[in-house]
Amino acid sequence: MPGARELILPLRGALVPVPAQPQDGVCSICHSSAKIGFSRCLPCSEAGAADPPEILPITLSVHGELIHSHLRNYKDSPSAAVRSRMSLRLAALLATFMSQHARCVGEWDYATCVPSATRVALQSVVDRIQLFACRYRQVLASRPETGERALEPARFAVSADVSDHRILLLDDTFVSGASAFGAAAALREHGATVVGPVVIGRHIQPGWPPSAQLLSWIAKRPWDETRCARCAGERPRASLF
Ligand SMILES: [Zn+2]
Ligand SMILES: [Zn+2]
Repeated sequence: MPGARELILPLRGALVPVPAQPQDGVCSICHSSAKIGFSRCLPCSEAGAADPPEILPITLSVHGELIHSHLRNYKDSPSAAVRSRMSLRLAALLATFMSQHARCVGEWDYATCVPSATRVALQSVVDRIQLFACRYRQVLASRPETGERALEPARFAVSADVSDHRILLLDDTFVSGASAFGAAAALREHGATVVGPVVIGRHIQPGWPPSAQLLSWIAKRPWDETRCARCAGERPRASLF
């Protein structure tokens, strides 16, 4: 059985470090690109009233590239072998990140995944990780009858008493934030403290000028498992202090 380091190897060249904040051109909530002069990207500014939690992405997921394809195909590939191989790599990545950045993530009692309308796809990844063996409870379920209304906590049913629990929220990919923010709001409404939320990939469209500008310097840097956006996010130039 290969170790996490070997499993991540095929992803290495495609992993993109996550920028630090605050800095110009970086969203203060999701660490993706924002227009210069704006502290939030568009989805996160639309979430303004909902007081969204600061997201902790493991990597940027550039549209059309390898991480993006893993984050789709680990759940949607028609081949069971491909789904299994990709899930294993993503599990190795998430496990590595969690072991390196426990302090950045914060204290938590158990983890739960953000469900989509029909399933909890990320559970196939989380189930492979020893850390979550006794510390995972799926307390969120989707209520598809409520539709895809952005940031609506009513989209999610909370299936257990979570009051005063510290819940690590996990998601595979962050695009508009509607799911992660809605899930966090539902947990908070039921009295939980939301920890993380950790997302594997913050999706980024390289064709959008602010994203192109961010990627022009950050995509050249190697992804380093000992650095995350909270403890050592990237800046265009190394800080002198
Ligand atoms: Zn944002
Ligand atoms: Zn860290």
